Amino acid sequence: MKFGGTSVGGAAAIRQVVEVVRGQQSLRPVVVVSAHAGVTDALMVVAHEAAEGKADVEAVALRHRQILRGLQLDERLLDAELDELRDLARGVRLVGEATPKVIDAVLSYGERLSARVVAAALTANGVPATAVDAFAAGMLTDSSFGRARPLPDVGRMQQYLSTVTGVPVVTGFLGADKAGNITTLGRNGSDYSAALIGVAIEAEEIQIWKDVDGVHTADPRLVPEARPIPMMGFEDLANLASFGSKVLHPAAMVPAMQHGIRLRVRNTLSPDAAGTTIEASVNGGRPAIRAIAHRTAVALVSVRSHRMLPHHAFLANVFTKLHEMECDVGPVAVGEAAVTVAIDDAFAERAVASLASEGDVQVASERAVVGVIGDASVLENGGIADVLAELTKAGVSVRCAGLGALGSTVAFAVHADRLTETVRLLHSRFF
Ligand code: ASP
Ligand code: MG
Repeated sequence: MKFGGTSVGGAAAIRQVVEVVRGQQSLRPVVVVSAHAGVTDALMVVAHEAAEGKADVEAVALRHRQILRGLQLDERLLDAELDELRDLARGVRLVGEATPKVIDAVLSYGERLSARVVAAALTANGVPATAVDAFAAGMLTDSSFGRARPLPDVGRMQQYLSTVTGVPVVTGFLGADKAGNITTLGRNGSDYSAALIGVAIEAEEIQIWKDVDGVHTADPRLVPEARPIPMMGFEDLANLASFGSKVLHPAAMVPAMQHGIRLRVRNTLSPDAAGTTIEASVNGGRPAIRAIAHRTAVALVSVRSHRMLPHHAFLANVFTKLHEMECDVGPVAVGEAAVTVAIDDAFAERAVASLASEGDVQVASERAVVGVIGDASVLENGGIADVLAELTKAGVSVRCAGLGALGSTVAFAVHADRLTETVRLLHSRFF
């Protein structure tokens, strides 16, 4: 049972978590928690400011004391950890540099503190629990600080967790490399932690508890009528993630999928709602179009070849350059002597500079990508025309439009100004 930052965001939310865990106590859950909402960002600021000579941990300390007070727990419960954090921040200030390794150590306090708070809240309310630091419990990773990759588990975590008294409350987001340095799995990595732990303990189900009623047919902030999708396949979820859906950390579903463990996205605020169940094999009953996803802050970068190279070499060079920047692309349109890629806006400037050697480069920024996710058999057989016809009717112009590689998505880029209208239009057409 993984609870995200908002689900453990304050005393009231944590009380809710206690009830949700109590309700499933007989299933012997392992709980995984994020830092309280906003704490990871605050710690990031602490680390950077410390490097510039100002080491102030008091706002973070105050926030935790307030939560403890709200839960009627001992306000000194976290004093030892907060003192360590102060020492660490002082160390960063003295050295004057926050390396990725040190930043991970600073960030780790977010989850370490929240795991202790949640374990104490559970215990105080009759659900015995113990806080567990993932890096001590065998969550081994490589040494890529800031985005560490997990190493194979081979039974360590299950063995460790089986010795814990009561419900283990494990820190999400954290691991340790072989030398024992604390690592983090990348922002929003707690879902990934939950999936890795779920696989390690051979869980029957991995529950991701959030503050929304599951995965929606579109982003409810754009489309008020969007509704939760009761059942989806791993492939649908992977498609959603490829369009930037933040419902689940993209890496999180992979271990669950590989081991055939059911994933459920549920809402701490309405714990009786079914949420969304994601399984390997979903039997019928699903609409042909499953969701409308979108991604903002997109730039379209077009490179027109100088034609001094064969086409394949031109494409290889363009994608190698993007790879060197670790820049994800999609959708992509390939022409006879040109290629257009949709990329994250943040990469646009560097992409232009680095692709200039390959041809004439043009950028269109303030774009967004929309993806319609559904059955390949439907989209490949006229479904794509239905999508595009809606846009034609509304006079929305598109670029990089087409079927995705597996036929189960239709994607295109629109001007950011027309995004909301476009998503609403498609949502009302297909749902
Ligand atoms: N606390 C971490 C973050 O904010 C990990 C997570 O929330 O999943 O990125
Ligand atoms: Mg968080």
